[in-house]
Amino acid sequence: MGLLKFTFENAKLKGIWHYSLPSGFTCPGAKSCKTFADRITGKIMDEQTPVDGKTFRCYAAMDEARRPNVRKTRWDNFDLLKAAKTTKNMAALIIKVSKPLAYAVAGRCGCILAAITSRKFTSTLG
Ligand code: SF4
Repeated sequence: MGLLKFTFENAKLKGIWHYSLPSGFTCPGAKSCKTFADRITGKIMDEQTPVDGKTFRCYAAMDEARRPNVRKTRWDNFDLLKAAKTTKNMAALIIKVSKPLAYAVAGRCGCILAAITSRKFTSTLG
């Protein structure tokens, strides 16, 4: 079985590792923003419910429509999670990739923690 593809930050998630899924297809609660990009062609399908007479599209679906590599990554992730079938297997799939990332981040935080707990730093604080 393949691995979920995590990516590092984007325009709104600065400094955050995350994985993404296809917009609209994986948004059961979406109404005013419900937009889909066709898996193969990227063609946008609008199913938004207007708000005060205004209709707007999902930013993520537009990203998928413009960039086939983004669309592919999201569908690959979705296929992997669906193939996992159970919540336990899905969690295992997510942990498999996120655990090494968490250790990498913890390594960086460890440096910060060491700085915070050092006498020099605490005495600077007060
Ligand atoms: S904005 Fe896009 S990704 Fe977010 S819930 Fe709406 S359709 Fe889904």
